[in-house]
Amino acid sequence: MIKNTENPYYNLFLKQKNNQLKVAKASRNQRVKKLNALQRAIEITYRNNIKEALKKDLGKPSIESEMTEVYQIIGEIKHAKANLHKWRRDKKVKTPLSMLGASSYIKYEPKGVCLIISPWNFPFNLTFGPLVSAIAAGNTAIIKPSEMTPNSSALMKQIVASVFDEDEVALVEGEIETSTQLLKLPFNHIFFTGSPMVGKIVMKAASEHLSSVTLELGGKSPTIIDETANLKTAAKKIMWGKFMNCGQICVSPDYVLIDKSVKEKFISECKGWLDKYYDKDPKQSDAYGRIVTSKHFNRLANHLEDAKLKNATIHYGAETDESTKYISPTLISDLKDDASLLHEEIFGPILPIVSYDTLENAIAYINSKERPLALYVYSKSRTNTNKVISNTRAGSTCINNNVIQYANHHLPFGGINNSGIGKSHGYYGFKAFSNERSVVKQNTYGITELLFPPYTNLKEKLAKLTVKWF
Ligand code: NAD
Repeated sequence: MIKNTENPYYNLFLKQKNNQLKVAKASRNQRVKKLNALQRAIEITYRNNIKEALKKDLGKPSIESEMTEVYQIIGEIKHAKANLHKWRRDKKVKTPLSMLGASSYIKYEPKGVCLIISPWNFPFNLTFGPLVSAIAAGNTAIIKPSEMTPNSSALMKQIVASVFDEDEVALVEGEIETSTQLLKLPFNHIFFTGSPMVGKIVMKAASEHLSSVTLELGGKSPTIIDETANLKTAAKKIMWGKFMNCGQICVSPDYVLIDKSVKEKFISECKGWLDKYYDKDPKQSDAYGRIVTSKHFNRLANHLEDAKLKNATIHYGAETDESTKYISPTLISDLKDDASLLHEEIFGPILPIVSYDTLENAIAYINSKERPLALYVYSKSRTNTNKVISNTRAGSTCINNNVIQYANHHLPFGGINNSGIGKSHGYYGFKAFSNERSVVKQNTYGITELLFPPYTNLKEKLAKLTVKWF
């Protein structure tokens, strides 16, 4: 039994642990009922409150709240409800001839008591998204959302309490200390979304109990634009993908790598789209958000200062206002190799544009860095696109668009190494919260019994034949 009585969350953990087997036994219909209740809360009861909280925390435009928060969660719920019967059904698999007389299948069983730690940039989506998978798979969960978006976290606590008893799902608000205490408990699975730096802390803590982890992390996601790309549509999509949510998106293009022959034309197209999207005045535009906290505002302002000191060229924006945590959409090039913008994940509305001589050099540049969460390619050349994909590694790739790969529930979502471990969304999220239990059933006399001791020369020969033929 767990001996951790001094931990403030021990009792809550224990309640869920004691309730876990009951929750695990819930039928498909019972799980669907729970998902329906969550769907009703988000889609109907609290929909406007969600948008208000996001406006307060992030200045998020209403349509972005609808599309990147409400729609994503409801989509995840609908997809889970429609496919749950298929996902959780035992999956029959082949059995080798050497095991003649046996049959085999995979049983999907819930991992148990899970911890979900979420970030602030899409607070509802990145908290309830994993929760949907956890519930679909039959787990209990304790959730720790981000302290950076207090209005959203308080509302999520209310939503969770309105739908679940705390011995099934509970939300705990708090800062780093809260996560630290929770991470001391022997959760069966930890689903963490956040920075690579904190991801390492989570994985270290998980190793204490050998809890399994899904780490949805971040990093610098590059965008390659080659000389054949349609620059107008590339600029249209990149200006949308980069500056939505004020650039605070894990899969937004962190920087552009562009063939030097088309750089100026691309920048001019970008300026045109930015003027159009935000009516030449992003500060007054309803379509443009704000930086989440003063700490993040200062981090981004320091990046800009560093770039300016090193004589970078500002093509657009670089306007800041600390009192409203406003940073205008910014296009910047001619950065020195040691510019901080080229080394740290930006996670804000600043787009470095770096030109390259050859595609091979662009690929080598990407491969000299950590493996990204997303890698985008804009090109009309299939040869170039294939070259980029086959010579790099990334969590996901979008060709001639960006960010939208996140919204396809049929695809696994996640990073690789520094950008993440494990996958989420749809079936892959269900799998993350499930133990794939191998079951072999001996139906008749097993042929393997022929090889039981005492060992003889004949059995030795039979063993050799088995190696050769089966
Ligand atoms: P963060 O890592 O600072 O915080 C994430 C969560 O961890 C928060 O709940 C926070 O309270 C908690 N936390 C912070 N420090 C901790 C510590 N020392 N010990 C234990 N818990 C701690 O990340 P963030 O600033 O909230 O989000 C931004 C990062 O998240 C970026 O790197 C971004 O790329 C990444 N992100 C990834 C995805 C994805 O799906 N892969 C989605 C959104 C954001």
